[in-house]
Amino acid sequence: MPSSFVGGRRAGLKQLRVFNAQSYATTRNAVGEHSGVSKLSPYIRHGCITLTEARAHVVAQLGAGHSVKWIQELAWRQFWQLLYARDGEKIYENYEEAKVPLGHDSSLPRDIADARTGLHCMDRSLEQLYTTGYLYNHARMWVASYLIHHRKLDWRVGARLFHTFLLDGDPASNTLSWQWIASTFSSKPYFFNRENVEKFSRERVSGETLCTGCPAAKTKSCPFDASYEALETRLFGTQQRREPRRYQR
Ligand SMILES: Cc1cc2nc3c(=O)[nH]c(=O)nc-3n(C[C@H](O)[C@H](O)[C@H](O)COP(=O)(O)OP(=O)(O)OC[C@H]3O[C@@H](n4cnc5c(N)ncnc54)[C@H](O)[C@@H]3O)c2cc1C
Repeated sequence: MPSSFVGGRRAGLKQLRVFNAQSYATTRNAVGEHSGVSKLSPYIRHGCITLTEARAHVVAQLGAGHSVKWIQELAWRQFWQLLYARDGEKIYENYEEAKVPLGHDSSLPRDIADARTGLHCMDRSLEQLYTTGYLYNHARMWVASYLIHHRKLDWRVGARLFHTFLLDGDPASNTLSWQWIASTFSSKPYFFNRENVEKFSRERVSGETLCTGCPAAKTKSCPFDASYEALETRLFGTQQRREPRRYQR
């Protein structure tokens, strides 16, 4: 099935023109149609629109003072690009030692390839990735964290999967984001719990979340249904000295 994204600069400029950044700072973490994100990433990735144009559009809309969150996100992209320009292929190696034990499985499990893990939050996200070539940032984080910390896959396996399907698939942004989740390029691993999924995927009108109708919720076998403390002990053996990294960007 072809993606609904239309390619090219004209389509990118149209997407930029209709983007209303008013609620961006408060809804960027949301996953689903209620999210205020721009969906500009394929156009930025392929050079159809520039970061300067993207920045100028929102500054003209909101003023510089209210555009901070937006500019910060554009800056993340630029930061990853600069690292890639400096370090080249080295970005595919661990940047730092991992802060928690990591797995080394190097083949992609069938249930992930088929989007049939039995966990709605994972399966719907993977389906979205496979069919549209786009995934909300927070959902990217959930999937990456699941593959790395629950399924113990080498982070490169997940990074390859994302790169294969994402229309914005980018060596720098993708690889270094995976390292950030794994803790090989951050001070702690990223992981999440069910409460986090429900909070950020709740649709405004229907009230449904990615957990609605999930078989794992019904059978009380959701691997994310626990406190952060319990999850941390289960996933990493011990609790970190500092607070675990929950959602922060
Ligand atoms: C595991 C993982 C893999 C990722 N892989 C990619 C990738 O291959 N290509 C890619 O462009 N982004 C990647 N990202 C970053 C981010 O998820 C996407 O840029 C964002 O979801 C794109 O959607 P949007 O255009 O609606 O974003 P918006 O929130 O509207 O942001 C506007 C633009 O800012 C940039 N941006 C926003 N957030 C980030 C971020 N965290 N890091 C870097 N740039 C950002 C993008 O160019 C984006 O188009 C990844 C994140 C994670 C956690």
